[in-house]
Amino acid sequence: MSRCPRFVAIAALLTATACASPPATPPASPAPPTPAHPILVTLVVDQLAAWIASDRFDLLPSDGGFARLRREGTTVRAMRYEHAVTDTAPGHSALYTGVVPAVSGIFANEVLAEGGRSASVLEDPATRLVAEGGVIDRPGSSLARLKVETLADELRAEHPDATIIALSIKDRGALFAAGRHPTAAVWLDVKSNRFVTSTAFAKTLPPWAAATLALRHAEASTWDLLDRSWVTSHSATPDDEAGEGDIPGYGTVFPHHLGAAQRPELAFRTSPFADDVLLAMGLAALDAEHAGEHETLLALSLSANDYISHTFGPDSWEAWDELLRLDRSLATFFTGLDSRFGTNGYAVLLTADHGSNAMPEVGRHAFCDAPAPDAWKRACAPAHRVMPDDLARTLVAAARDALGPGDWVAGVSDPYVYLTPAARTLDAARRATLNDALKKTTLATPGVAAFYDTHALPVPCPPFADESVDALVCRSVLPGAADFYVVLRPGSFFDPSIVVGKGTSHGSPYLYDRTVPLLARAPGRIAAGARVEEATFDTFAATAASMLGITQLVLLHPRVIPVGHSR
Ligand SMILES: [Zn+2]
Repeated sequence: MSRCPRFVAIAALLTATACASPPATPPASPAPPTPAHPILVTLVVDQLAAWIASDRFDLLPSDGGFARLRREGTTVRAMRYEHAVTDTAPGHSALYTGVVPAVSGIFANEVLAEGGRSASVLEDPATRLVAEGGVIDRPGSSLARLKVETLADELRAEHPDATIIALSIKDRGALFAAGRHPTAAVWLDVKSNRFVTSTAFAKTLPPWAAATLALRHAEASTWDLLDRSWVTSHSATPDDEAGEGDIPGYGTVFPHHLGAAQRPELAFRTSPFADDVLLAMGLAALDAEHAGEHETLLALSLSANDYISHTFGPDSWEAWDELLRLDRSLATFFTGLDSRFGTNGYAVLLTADHGSNAMPEVGRHAFCDAPAPDAWKRACAPAHRVMPDDLARTLVAAARDALGPGDWVAGVSDPYVYLTPAARTLDAARRATLNDALKKTTLATPGVAAFYDTHALPVPCPPFADESVDALVCRSVLPGAADFYVVLRPGSFFDPSIVVGKGTSHGSPYLYDRTVPLLARAPGRIAAGARVEEATFDTFAATAASMLGITQLVLLHPRVIPVGHSR
């Protein structure tokens, strides 16, 4: 049993000493001068579940990036999200605002748009994408739907000359960290296969963000195993495990030739090289934007782990190799930070936006036969891929059966079902008939556990002490934004449609999707080698604010920071 506390408040994390063990690595010599202003690097490893960290971090080499962070900082074993919709946009927004989706307004990755299509929750028709060479005539992304201020917004308000850089392979990885007035917010637009920003933030793309050569080099590369014996000794599955997705031309077994893929950009983001390009871009941005001369936030959301798990599953050889390669790349990245700022001159927070779920095809897991119940509530019963389009078709038909001809169901953008305006204006009796029919039909779908009428959720939602599915769903839903919320059974998931019908996904209210690790390193401020069992997600924003010397970010209840509040 650990001597560490089971719960850590931010004050405790900053001063944790009870679990402190080995001293930090000695500083490199000669050390660059310590920057006069705080420098914080935040790393969000997309889909890095607490159960993966717990099972696998000890297996990584002692000279890797994860071991260094654990040695030099405090490790929170399980940081819990307090919402059910464990997806990328809700997760990143929760991290960088300290509030749940029902409050932030970021209640899903995607919303149902005109014509029944799903559109990014960040898509903003009032903006345009900006690439190297100028504006692309396609809608850009913005934080228009975000209802609260972010960590970066507060940093900008208190330190107008702060350097704020946020980078990712996807917009929802970059924007919540960037806030509304970043120095730069850059992500890979996979449709144009270029790094971009949005007119919401800038009229031009910073020169360091073009990264075209690095991108092309990576897309011409071959991804082979870094250490075959390490991967094969730890992975419980074969390289060609059933259920792995084949991005056309990329294949399901090593080596993966990125250039052989019909769309090399899809292969690129599904390879460790996506992390490497982003980490290199981060260092280039720090140099170009005079980091350290002012308060500095460099926020990187590393998406490769997510795309690799969605495609091949978290137990695949690909996922194991990604972790090992990321570990090595992080070590190199930290050495780059050492050389710029000295080992004591910067702070690092590393976490994830949500957890991960095994592929249904992978056989019985060892934890299913362990004497104690699984701490992460991973599923052992058969699981299902629920196809959103199939569910939508079924519900459209069920609504017509119940009410007669008419368009009643607008569509499904998981985990939500949307009604049409006609359905929303039905009289109470017919609306009840419709609701009953949709509920009955949804609950009859294999893999479905519960069906919530979002208009009937309690106001306000229960406090964080309540982690029932009811409470987690309540804290996910922006009132009025959608009509029904569908919760799936443990192990089941909405098909991510990256490779249709293959791979895996997240998004459930269960602990395997809802807990992530938090590694916090700030020499002299956060205990080295300490371990803490658990924390809630707002520990991330609170710690980041403290590292940056932000005084206005209110992180005790009530947590809402209305946009435009007076200072
Ligand atoms: Zn994610």
